[in-house]
Amino acid sequence: MVIYDLICDASHTFEGWFKNAEDFDAQVTSGMVTCPFCESEMVSKKLAAPKLSRKSNSAPAPQEVAIGNGSAEAYSQLQEMLGKVHKFVETNFEDVGNKFAEEALSIHRGEKDKENIRGTATPDEIKELAEEGVTAVPLPPKPVNKKKLN
Ligand SMILES: [Zn+2]
Repeated sequence: MVIYDLICDASHTFEGWFKNAEDFDAQVTSGMVTCPFCESEMVSKKLAAPKLSRKSNSAPAPQEVAIGNGSAEAYSQLQEMLGKVHKFVETNFEDVGNKFAEEALSIHRGEKDKENIRGTATPDEIKELAEEGVTAVPLPPKPVNKKKLN
């Protein structure tokens, strides 16, 4: 759980509670967060850093991230590996699109045959899956389609 100090476009400030940063982004993008004073949907974070609530066990785990040293070699190798991961998944996993959570649960509950599936899931769905004991593997971002370096 994270608490953000929020501010609307009329400079009203108020607090909002969210599951995590993704939850906040999703709710703001879909206009679900409104100012309690003027009902404006133009809401943004007042502070850059979120305050973690005391129940930090529900805070999202830190993500592993990497950044190259700026050399063309490191960059192109990383992009190549990302490309390979996505190629592998695209070749060997069936794309179920946004039905991923549903399909994964059906398989987990034995309602469907086991198979490799890929797709998209919201943070809420991933959390639900985890609560059911299903661990979905997050995929790295797709390689950036920059002009070839060699
Ligand atoms: Zn307002």
